[in-house]
Amino acid sequence: MDFSLTSEEKDFQSAVRHFGDTVLRRHERSLDAEGRIPPPVLEEMARLGLLAMPVPESYGGMGATAVQTEIAAEEIGRGDFSMATAVFFLLEAGWGSILARHGTEEARQEVLPPVCRGKHFLGVATTEPGGGSDLAHMVTRSRRAGEGYVVRGEKAYLSGVMEARERGGGHLTLTRCEEGEGFNFLYVPTQAPGTSVQRFENMGRMGISTGAIAYEDVQVPARYLVGEERRGFSCAMEGFQSARTFVAAACIGAAERALEMGMAYIRERKVFGQPLGKFEGIQFELADQWSLVEAVKWQCRRAAWMLDTYAWKGDRSHRGEIDRAVASVKLMAPQVAFDTIRKVMMWYGAAGYTKDMGLELGFRGIMSYLVGAEGGLNIMRIILGRELLGPEFVPYK
Ligand SMILES: Cc1cc2nc3c(=O)[nH]c(=O)nc-3n(C[C@H](O)[C@H](O)[C@H](O)COP(=O)(O)OP(=O)(O)OC[C@H]3O[C@@H](n4cnc5c(N)ncnc54)[C@H](O)[C@@H]3O)c2cc1C
Repeated sequence: MDFSLTSEEKDFQSAVRHFGDTVLRRHERSLDAEGRIPPPVLEEMARLGLLAMPVPESYGGMGATAVQTEIAAEEIGRGDFSMATAVFFLLEAGWGSILARHGTEEARQEVLPPVCRGKHFLGVATTEPGGGSDLAHMVTRSRRAGEGYVVRGEKAYLSGVMEARERGGGHLTLTRCEEGEGFNFLYVPTQAPGTSVQRFENMGRMGISTGAIAYEDVQVPARYLVGEERRGFSCAMEGFQSARTFVAAACIGAAERALEMGMAYIRERKVFGQPLGKFEGIQFELADQWSLVEAVKWQCRRAAWMLDTYAWKGDRSHRGEIDRAVASVKLMAPQVAFDTIRKVMMWYGAAGYTKDMGLELGFRGIMSYLVGAEGGLNIMRIILGRELLGPEFVPYK
């Protein structure tokens, strides 16, 4: 067993950290205020190969492994505390790799290169106004029509709706088959006739839009079917395995940055004649938080390694083990990151409450992963309960 990174992985990590420390930190406040990631930031990400990075080189990506992508997610979460850039990054990485594995050859050639160049956006649309946890009861439908499909319904709380509408691109959209059983997973361009978009105002991660898409008899060509007809649900679940791992990594990156800020502060800040870090009340909290962050970080890396070793090779034999690892990191990482930032904020005292310190950016961004983005915490607990106790313990039908 070898936990060390290869020299290639170390060089790559240094390059992404440099990008995070310089470009992302410079822009994190303005992208939050202006509601978009500035084009030069995306251009630099494309230059570094960070957009949809697991996509094979033949479609414009860098053919990155899940471990490399997990490392990059961590560095991007560390660079842009608001989480907006991390969300942009991980959606394209997770869902780009699904399209590369399960899309038709025509769709891969058409959709992926502009995403990897930073021209178009690629996201996922599963949540509906009626709920996001209970996907099996969704109402958005697709029916066969001629050579393709017609989609009708509405999705909500989707990341990247304005980016895809304005710049081009679309969402991999989970739809119930109108006739018979099953779900179709379809790439639906957000500029397709019959789609309309609404932006919601969030409390955080403002640099990427969140909103709804309504579909009024939207014609979707057959080449945009992802995976097999009626079997789209498993493709969507496979995509969540990757996206949740990268979400967790981004949260860990933000937590590490907060800890570093906190350690620098408690070394210097003197109260009652000594540095804050000398008081056990603070030092022990640091020890606890550091240990939690390390534990979840290595579980994230293990989850990414399992994706590389099994799932991304089409090997479903370790599905349960991967589901456990991924659900546990998506359950723990946002909570650990949120608590770490909150504790560091407390160490800073009043200074932590100011925007100058930037901790509130992370606070607001990480919160999106606590309330639900990429699956609510209780859904992760239900997956773990199912895997640990057996399917008969799932508390719903
Ligand atoms: C900023 C942001 C961005 C998002 N981006 C996307 C996106 O790009 N694409 C997309 O499809 N969706 C996206 N989502 C939606 C996200 O996937 C949903 O929030 C999530 O699936 C939960 O669905 P819901 O919000 O409708 O909550 P509900 O499903 O209504 O659940 C409400 C609460 O109840 C809990 N709960 C649900 N079932 C149970 C149960 N059986 N037992 C106990 N507790 C339960 C949930 O965990 C949640 O806390 C985004 C959400 C946010 C906040």
